[in-house]
Amino acid sequence: MEKMQFKAESQRLLDLMINSIYTHREIFLREILSNASDAIDKLAYTALTDDKVGLSREDFAIIITRDEENRTLTVSDNGIGMSRAELEENLGTIAKSGSLGFKQAMEKQEDIDIIGQFGVGFYSAFMVASSITVITRKYGEDTAWKWVSDGADGYTIEETTRSAPGTDVIMTLKVDTEEDKYSDYLEEYEIRSLVRKYSDYIRYPIRMEVEKSRMKEGCDEDKPEYESYTEMETLNSMVPIWQRAKKDVTQEEYESFYREKFFDYNKPLRVIHSSAEGAVSFKALLYIPEKAPYDFYTKDFKAGLQLYSSGVMIMENCADLLPEHFRFVRGVVDSQDLSLNISREMLQHNRQLTIIARNLEKKIKSELKSMMDNERENYEKFFDAFGRNLKYGTVSDYGTHKDICADLLLFHSHKQGKRISLKEYVDAMAEGQEKIYFAPGENLAQLAKLPQVETLSAKGYDVLLCNEDVDEFVFQSLMTYEEKKTCNAATEDLGLQTEEEKKQAEEKAEELKGFLTFVKESLGDQVKEVRLSTELGSHPVCMKAENGMSFEMEKYMKRVEPGFDMKVGRILELNPDHAAVQAMKEAMTADPVLAKDYAQLLTCQAQLMAGLPIEDPYAYTELVCKLMK
Ligand code: ADP
Repeated sequence: MEKMQFKAESQRLLDLMINSIYTHREIFLREILSNASDAIDKLAYTALTDDKVGLSREDFAIIITRDEENRTLTVSDNGIGMSRAELEENLGTIAKSGSLGFKQAMEKQEDIDIIGQFGVGFYSAFMVASSITVITRKYGEDTAWKWVSDGADGYTIEETTRSAPGTDVIMTLKVDTEEDKYSDYLEEYEIRSLVRKYSDYIRYPIRMEVEKSRMKEGCDEDKPEYESYTEMETLNSMVPIWQRAKKDVTQEEYESFYREKFFDYNKPLRVIHSSAEGAVSFKALLYIPEKAPYDFYTKDFKAGLQLYSSGVMIMENCADLLPEHFRFVRGVVDSQDLSLNISREMLQHNRQLTIIARNLEKKIKSELKSMMDNERENYEKFFDAFGRNLKYGTVSDYGTHKDICADLLLFHSHKQGKRISLKEYVDAMAEGQEKIYFAPGENLAQLAKLPQVETLSAKGYDVLLCNEDVDEFVFQSLMTYEEKKTCNAATEDLGLQTEEEKKQAEEKAEELKGFLTFVKESLGDQVKEVRLSTELGSHPVCMKAENGMSFEMEKYMKRVEPGFDMKVGRILELNPDHAAVQAMKEAMTADPVLAKDYAQLLTCQAQLMAGLPIEDPYAYTELVCKLMK
């Protein structure tokens, strides 16, 4: 018999596939089952108008047969079948665009489910089979055809017989090697779990003969004897939970689906079951988990939603469906609009995913917002687990997503003693208050005692105490919220002075110029500048950071890039009305050495209050002892 060659494109594609995507090879079964389901769809559709088909909805099924002796796995369907011409057309060529896109995708990312996207499904069976035989009879024809190929160098077609229309795909599995156990695909357990994983919601029953055991008839119940027998079993559940109406699904069903599917022991904090009609119609079942998986904040975490096309899973973690800031969401998206295009061009595929993703982003945000407003306790749990991710979202991509993320953030309110949103802060702002004050540092209790925080509190202004390293970057990225400027209370001018007060302060500074110069000279290059402040309340001194920088950033940089020595310029601010500062001023003329010691002591104090280490702890303790003597 003459051997026919695959078209060149197919040959190349086959090589690429077999050599490149071994990790995904188990999906071959999904592909073959999906093809069978498609073929049944076509005949079922014909049956609606053509009585001659003689089959009704319940008659359609896909049968999996395992033959361990001959190492074959067979998938049979009673679908539309293929004519000879169709066999050649369908199993001898792969669309050009498909293979081109395939190649491009291969170069771009390895993790993507290429087969699912480009409909090179049938060929994926060559990842596990050394030879494939297809026996098929088209509905309406009497002749059946047998197509045989061992993948590498083409295929043969010859006439054969088949009692009814439909197709058998008979895969002879490759020989096992030390690394690859192809014979696993003959195991009942393996097939059962692959069907559950990838093809559970195929709308026709997928049946397989399975081994069971039962008590022998008539045997003594106290001494039971068992016999094994086989029985046809349907392996798939057929109706996906997300396709059912919301009112028909119980909370328990949602939860157990979540636990089973996403391997989480905890209940989800929220279930989002939504459907959309329009440019792209889809159904989505999403979950907000309660706890972050242990690897959530690492590169290993695989974000994304499971993508189904008409009940067939085509991608396990479709990252394109979720923006980074919502990467904690788990769930499933099913769209029948994808099935037509998904195998064709990358571009189109992306456009549809983008529409779905945008829609989902809005939906997730509004659900989180409603949780924040109506179920605060749960929201706080959520925020404990994933708040940091929302903060990263506010900062990332140059703040592109800040409008989405900012409404969802919580910070510790000094005034209210609990966590509040930025909106709640703004709504509760005091009369005359113009800025949103925040104070970054390591420890909430310490931050509450910051001189600036004390000053603001005295005026009735709230301060958001921020003890996460990313917080300062969040506010820097925000700049404003509801048109109110954000202000780092620890480092920036609080803007509390009136013009009159400013003038007075300048005059005072002029008057004390000699004193300030003295202090600066005593401290040398420990500080960049020494100046007066009227915002220190009951405190004598504080340490501020030079223009726009902050000590928290300095610490952060030290942590993330230890070799990079970034030192933010220090500015010592003095409260001229404080007794300690006055004592230092008096000592300046009476005992300049003592005055210098005072300056050093107060600088150390300012360092500590700002959450900075004392540069020379030994000298500091010496100094304290000296003064005490
Ligand atoms: P895709 O299914 O994405 O088009 P495949 O390579 O999996 O790509 O299949 C190619 C074509 O072969 C299908 O579109 C279909 O026309 C035909 N085909 C595959 N399997 C069957 C089957 N079991 N019954 C009828 N036709 C089939």
